[in-house]
Amino acid sequence: MTRSITILGATGSIGASTLDLIRRDREAWDVKALTANCSAVELAALAIEFGAELAVVGDEACLPDLREALSGSGIEAAGGAQALCDVAALGADMTVAAIVGCAGLAPVMAAVEQGKTIALANKEALVSAGDILMSCVEKHGATLLPTDSEHNAIFQCLAGNDLDDVSWITLTASGGPFREWSHEQLANATRAQALKHPNWDMGAKITVDSATMMNKGLEFIEAWHLFPVGLDRLRIVVHPQSVIHSMVEYRDGSTLAQLGPSDMRVPIASCLAWPRRMDTACKPLDLPTIGTLSFAAPDEDRFPATRLAREAAHAGGAAPAVLNAANEVAVAAFLDGQITFTQISAIAARTLEKELPRAPTSLEEVLAVDGKARELARMMLEPA
Ligand code: NDP
Repeated sequence: MTRSITILGATGSIGASTLDLIRRDREAWDVKALTANCSAVELAALAIEFGAELAVVGDEACLPDLREALSGSGIEAAGGAQALCDVAALGADMTVAAIVGCAGLAPVMAAVEQGKTIALANKEALVSAGDILMSCVEKHGATLLPTDSEHNAIFQCLAGNDLDDVSWITLTASGGPFREWSHEQLANATRAQALKHPNWDMGAKITVDSATMMNKGLEFIEAWHLFPVGLDRLRIVVHPQSVIHSMVEYRDGSTLAQLGPSDMRVPIASCLAWPRRMDTACKPLDLPTIGTLSFAAPDEDRFPATRLAREAAHAGGAAPAVLNAANEVAVAAFLDGQITFTQISAIAARTLEKELPRAPTSLEEVLAVDGKARELARMMLEPA
């Protein structure tokens, strides 16, 4: 049976992995729409290859380029923030939410409101608007499939079990490229070094988040919303090999873990085929070659981001959205050469210390909190 699919963030790393899977099984999918921010030529090429009905750029200034690249193809082009929401609201059977950052939140909400299936990679949407997004999922009877490898692993380990029987959910973290670096080395870490993840090939923002461990902090908050076992039953363990993608421990002492190659096509395939399985071209694990799996507690002295995220989750209200927004600003500034590596978490921490706006109760209020926190964080940017 052919299913329709829309990919929000088609030109990114998750978008490319998703399209790779679709390319291998063209008959199974009818590509409705693909989106990007401003990679107009790349988006147009993908839209033509996959026979999409519609291609959308989030940045309206890039629409003329998209129109030109699509001319004669018969594919409709649109641009702007509202166009992203409109395309998400077309009601494809499956929407892959892979825009990076809080910019993906409104389109994700628009997709959820259609009550269909959403494969959610865009963790920042859930961090910023967890309660609102999860209520929307419930209200509209949507199916939210976690695509982040850790959450997808937990989702698989929970299958057939009751959350009341869970003792611990353990998120694994590779520890990133700077796992063994001293404070002094971290203070001098460069953009190029931060962008070299030891195990995963991902977009720039999440790669820097992995290096600061903020990625794990955001995932902690993400897990709290997706699997409501309570914050005191969620923990993080450093596992440098990234073979175990996360674990669930039950009250009888059993721990279920999901293992797999460090290739996002595996969790994406699990979402696309859910509740069945599909083939991927991923090389299976070769455990004798891997040899050893090791584990360690996170070092929150050198990597304070997971502590910040835990504190933001405990504080609740606007705090997670503020943390996320400040981090987005700080990561962009680091990538732009404006601040040092260790200033990223410092700016997130200092923004959280400001008087927090009141708890947002709607999408509009989350976006207002996000905007305010960005303003505060931008004021803290100092030259590197
Ligand atoms: P990339 O940076 O590779 O891609 C981001 C995509 O979003 C691109 O298509 C980009 O378009 C688009 N985009 C960026 N900014 C905007 C905007 N303001 N409005 C509309 N579209 C925008 O990111 P990743 O694929 O690495 O990550 C996507 C999401 O998935 C993130 O939330 C990340 O945390 C999550 N994730 C990613 C994993 C990975 O392995 N990459 C693993 C687990 C989760 P353009 O090309 O035009 O810039």
